[in-house]
Amino acid sequence: LVRFDKVVKRYGDHVVLDQLDFTVERGEHVTLIGPSGSGKTTILRLLMTLEKVSDGVIWVNGSPLSHVRTPDGGLKPAGEKQLRESRKKIGMVFQQFNLFPNMKVLQNITEAPISVLGKEREEAEARARELLELVGLSGKVDAHPSQLSGGQQQRVAIARALAMEPEILLLDEVTSALDPELVAGVLELLGDIARNTDITMLCVTHEMNFARDVSEKVLMFDAGRVVESGTPEKIFSDPSHERTREFLNAVL
Ligand code: ATP
Repeated sequence: LVRFDKVVKRYGDHVVLDQLDFTVERGEHVTLIGPSGSGKTTILRLLMTLEKVSDGVIWVNGSPLSHVRTPDGGLKPAGEKQLRESRKKIGMVFQQFNLFPNMKVLQNITEAPISVLGKEREEAEARARELLELVGLSGKVDAHPSQLSGGQQQRVAIARALAMEPEILLLDEVTSALDPELVAGVLELLGDIARNTDITMLCVTHEMNFARDVSEKVLMFDAGRVVESGTPEKIFSDPSHERTREFLNAVL
């Protein structure tokens, strides 16, 4: 479903992703691990089209995400309009929730389906209510984000991402800003979503238990490249690379 083909991302002289190749199959739940600065968040931001590749091509569903095809069969970098179109297939949940503070919970969820997907308000609100029930917040329809706990805000952010009916859900350290006692509930919700939907998930997380419970594949990054990939059992109990062993020793 997703393929990074020799993707390079540079900020000035700083090479963050270095000819990165990897693929994610439809329906897979993949966890990205690796030391701080290894480029994990950059990968999600490129997929969300919040950043542009410096070189290489990102493919989603056999179509270029970062590029458009030219009439002669070549590729050229995608413009804003095409990037906006691609973004519709992809949902992202951030570490810092990023809810709209001036909107009630229901509006936070219905805003994009109405303005971006062109849904009717009534339909968008009905779906938002279903999603709030799914994330256990039916009673908070009319609350403002500031009236919610961090865990509740993150549940709203998850509902908001799901409201866009994404093919791919990107999760960027979604529990790192939460109080410890709220982490388990959010992880449990994401586990339910992984098991009960066919959404493809890419998660950056330091929660190794979550990686173990929810993902079928772990990609270990270092310096903008994949050092190794495999099932969580393999990576956590029998890593092939010294770099992975060092990293796991530091975080487990
Ligand atoms: P962490 O676990 O700390 O979030 P990460 O693996 O997600 O790390 P990235 O956030 O992808 O790493 O960052 C990779 C590198 O790119 C870092 O060295 C960072 O300083 C650099 N970087 C990211 N965004 C920018 C930017 N907008 N301008 C300049 N450098 C950036």
